[in-house]
Amino acid sequence: MKWTKEAELELKKVPVFVRKMAKRAVEMEVGNAGREEVTAEDLKIAREKHISFAEEQPEKNGLKPTRIAIVRCETVSEVCPGVACFKAFKQRRAYFKDYGPETEIIGFFTCGGCPGRRVSRLVEKLKPFNLDILHLSSCMMLENTYPVCPHKEEIKKIVEAMGVKVVSGTHH
Ligand code: SF4
Repeated sequence: MKWTKEAELELKKVPVFVRKMAKRAVEMEVGNAGREEVTAEDLKIAREKHISFAEEQPEKNGLKPTRIAIVRCETVSEVCPGVACFKAFKQRRAYFKDYGPETEIIGFFTCGGCPGRRVSRLVEKLKPFNLDILHLSSCMMLENTYPVCPHKEEIKKIVEAMGVKVVSGTHH
């Protein structure tokens, strides 16, 4: 797929963390239309259609949104779809009770198996989206319902060293 100079310049204005996604989306649109060259106008349309939701939005009422994510136990995820975490967040209960309406969940992922194999990799992916706080899910903390995670303190330290605050718990 060829790109006009103007389209290449426009692509450079797309934030780095969604640039690859924008490139793929516009090339797919242009290809589906049976054309072989991307123009700046194509990029503008594809960006609006596929990417703009993921870009930084203007602050509402001067409030900077707090961006949170939840990591949960890979093993427990076999039997838990995560409903309680989302319900508790929506109702601002338990470990979510202090968040205002501007707070967003921008990630929900499993640890990847002991000893938290993919946590730092996914936190790294979320940082360009301004992740503020990572919650370790309640399933990692509870002694009775599920086996407590033996790596939770180590996971916490690693994430905090990446500049992201950690809260130990979600719904109870
Ligand atoms: S590291 Fe902890 S949370 Fe992840 S699978 Fe092992 S016990 Fe579960």
